[in-house]
Amino acid sequence: MDKPGPVGVYLDGVTSTKRQVELRAGLALEIIENGDVIAKWPWDSIRKADGAGKDLRLLSDEAGLARLTVSDPEFARTIASYAPKLFAGARERTSTLRIVVWSIAAAVSLLFVGLYGVPYAADRLAPILPLSVDSKIGVMVDNQVKTIFGNKTCDDPAGKQAYDHLVSRLVAATDMKVPLQAAVLNSSVKNAIALPGGRVYFFRGLLDVAKSPDEVAGVMAHELGHVHHRDSLRKLLQAGGSSFLLGLLFGDVTGAGAVIFATRTLLDRAYTRKAEHRADGFAIEAMKRLGRSAVPMGELLVRITGKQGEKSSSILASHPFSEDRLERMKREAPQTPGPELLTPAQWQALKGICRNAGPPKPLRRKEGSGKP
Ligand SMILES: [Zn+2]
Repeated sequence: MDKPGPVGVYLDGVTSTKRQVELRAGLALEIIENGDVIAKWPWDSIRKADGAGKDLRLLSDEAGLARLTVSDPEFARTIASYAPKLFAGARERTSTLRIVVWSIAAAVSLLFVGLYGVPYAADRLAPILPLSVDSKIGVMVDNQVKTIFGNKTCDDPAGKQAYDHLVSRLVAATDMKVPLQAAVLNSSVKNAIALPGGRVYFFRGLLDVAKSPDEVAGVMAHELGHVHHRDSLRKLLQAGGSSFLLGLLFGDVTGAGAVIFATRTLLDRAYTRKAEHRADGFAIEAMKRLGRSAVPMGELLVRITGKQGEKSSSILASHPFSEDRLERMKREAPQTPGPELLTPAQWQALKGICRNAGPPKPLRRKEGSGKP
């Protein structure tokens, strides 16, 4: 068939780099960069993507968010003659239903926003979206989070064992349905975060100041509460609305802008009081089932509050803490405590989980410091 020659612009769906590629119509559409075939799109997987004016923009059912723009009209005609489903509508085979659900959701959300305002709409919308939405966004923002906080998880074997043990005990004490990926990031920030789709990160900075397994477990249980209630998704819906989410998932967003916005939103924006209250309730309940109290978690957070200037980079920025939250934890603590969640040896191992990870990455952004 044709020799390489016609050029296109290729976005791999992961980074935002526009790559100049050559195209070849072989048994599949071959995408070639510097002489190497970097992708092969089966003809029957190729569909026309939205936008791009007079150029032909393509996606493949088998290539996720990747996009290919073809400006050579002659080669566009070649593609049209080989790709049977070019104009068959986006991904009809795999996700017509999903798109219908999305369209309805978007319409419903607009209606709800009109009737009740944004927070309520986000609350109503989040539960009816498929869980795959959370995990898809989770994958996108995960890289961004790791870039910001140092792309290194702590994995001292004994420490990791203790950490996993703690997490699995907590999960067993709940009725969580979202599969979890939990790790410790080697960052000096005093925080813990839950990303959409069940990624939970504990930061070394918070682990370093924790004085007992219950302090760590309480914070972890609280984050699990956010995962269980899909609060990160709510946060994104509140910040950007459903059209933003739609753009993130189906639109022309590869890497850059929207993902960065989403990540910053997840990190900087506080959860609503309602979400905090609910995550606390989840933590209190999970800890209680293990015979433990959530009070140490509150004490850990209060201890961090004491330090001036750390608010913007600490757990308090995204989980504002207040006295009444601590009071509630005290009120609902179990009368007779059960055994410790970790043995002293496991606790020591957990504290040392970052021992081989090198010095923790400091936060690049410097808000809160350098001011009198
Ligand atoms: Zn929280």
